[in-house]
Amino acid sequence: MSITVEKYGGTSVKDSARLKEIAARIAERKKENEDIVVIVSAPSGMTDSLIKRAKEISEVPKGREFDVLLSTGEQVSIALLAMALKEVGVKAISYTASQLGIVTCGNHNEARIQSVNTDLIREKIAEGYVIIVPGFQGVCEDGNITTLGRGGSDTSAVAIAAALGCKSVDIYTDVNGIYSANPQIIPGAIKHKEVSFSEMIELAGSGAKVLHTRSVELGAKYGIEIHLRSAFDWQEGTFVRSDEKVESAVIRGISGFGNLVRISYKSDKLRLSETVNTISKKGINIDLITHTMETNGGDEITCIVKEDYFEEAVEALNTISSPEDEILVEKGLAKVSVIGLGVRSKGIAASVFEILEKEGIEIHAVSCSEINISCIITEEDLNKAQNALHKKLIEEE
Ligand code: ASP
Ligand code: MG
Repeated sequence: MSITVEKYGGTSVKDSARLKEIAARIAERKKENEDIVVIVSAPSGMTDSLIKRAKEISEVPKGREFDVLLSTGEQVSIALLAMALKEVGVKAISYTASQLGIVTCGNHNEARIQSVNTDLIREKIAEGYVIIVPGFQGVCEDGNITTLGRGGSDTSAVAIAAALGCKSVDIYTDVNGIYSANPQIIPGAIKHKEVSFSEMIELAGSGAKVLHTRSVELGAKYGIEIHLRSAFDWQEGTFVRSDEKVESAVIRGISGFGNLVRISYKSDKLRLSETVNTISKKGINIDLITHTMETNGGDEITCIVKEDYFEEAVEALNTISSPEDEILVEKGLAKVSVIGLGVRSKGIAASVFEILEKEGIEIHAVSCSEINISCIITEEDLNKAQNALHKKLIEEE
């Protein structure tokens, strides 16, 4: 019999009332003999408050001890949910990532899952237990606790589903699906019935926070359908599935996020690989890179990075630059993205630029791929840009 793998986010386990509700629903299904593995996040707000406490002690908390701390949030949830299930007469047992063998690389705070040992899960399922697993947690080769990066519980769920050979996973959250834009900013946003893996990877990477990007990458790799749905109304949500199975749409969504900084580095002896390497080696993700060769000699490279990392990035550049080089920084930027399997082929880029121009929004940089047209604009213009693009490209189409 196939195993159901489901994940509950922070708002679903935030207090005893919610935990009891979740437990009651699992109990109903357990009565029908379903085999269930549940992955849980930390109660909502707990990871944030742990980070806050860490920052009171250390300016930039990171590394091993930070993971020991952060992983405790999920541990609270597994224990409480297992207890809530026992109270309603369901055999349930919680295990930490170390006990199970959710093995990751040793990159603390941003670890990647390498393998999941399912022996214990299978053994206990055969004994009739519901298995409760903490999301976000892992253990590396040397036995240390690791975590997968913010929002990483989704990735735990998909990795466990993959290891168990499941074809789908249910991710319960506090929204009822994936929308064409953030409904809190864009009232006309529409809920999708389905979205393709590649569109979802782009949406997640461009500001839509509903799913951890790596969870979607794993879903695509192992062909696991992700059903993102609400643990409040329990209705059908949005299915994230393979590109071939999804009915095509030119544009699937508009997303955006702020807090970006542009770093321009001008030098006569600039080497692209060295520059990018120097920044990447610090673990800093570069959101967008442009490179121009000046006709009168010298090169300029522009990198867009998250504000949190820009000081580190500039420091890194200082280690390779000479006094006559120029490093300029521009803060307060944002990225707005138009995403869909058809954006490139249908010549949407020109319309995007035209819409933004008409709104008087200045475009600082552009990047286009098969399914993503992204423009760097100022943070002040972000909501206006998202609204205008959504109205013209989705609502009026
Ligand atoms: N608790 C972690 C976080 O808040 C992981 C997760 O919820 O997915 O980022
Ligand atoms: Mg999440």
